[in-house]
Amino acid sequence: MDPYSIFADIIAGRAPASKVYEDDDVVAFMDIRPMTPGHLLVVPRVAARCLAELDPVIGGKLFQVGQRLAGALRASEVGCDGVNFFLADGVTAGQEVFHVHLHVIPRTPGDGFGLRGRPTTPPRADLDYLAGSIRGALARAGGL
Ligand code: 5GP
Repeated sequence: MDPYSIFADIIAGRAPASKVYEDDDVVAFMDIRPMTPGHLLVVPRVAARCLAELDPVIGGKLFQVGQRLAGALRASEVGCDGVNFFLADGVTAGQEVFHVHLHVIPRTPGDGFGLRGRPTTPPRADLDYLAGSIRGALARAGGL
């Protein structure tokens, strides 16, 4: 996996970005190819390529800042009346920039943005089976 990411250059000030917030842990700026007007990215300063490499405390900070930015988007001229959070972890999930980032996507009626895919309705036994498998994996990892 290519360790280079454009976000490292933005964080270091070597590449331009339209910033809306920064502190010691994170930087938030406008996505250069917004899904909807006002689409933001919240990016940790630490160069974690994926969730497995990210300190969960900083992961929590991403959500905390995203939460505040969602309020700012609603109160700004973006004028959205809804917000989606999105995070792609891995190529299969659609990750293109290998520096963890949280998308904060403003929503307005009829904006055309949405998740593709159809929900399924598996039997409870299937849900219980996978829940047990995930609990086992959590326990093997030392719990939360
Ligand atoms: P991913 O698919 O990895 O979750 O999303 C990467 C996001 O980064 C995309 O939405 C893309 O538009 C955005 N992006 C890629 N390069 C740049 C850049 O140079 N500047 C900014 N502001 N956003 C970028």
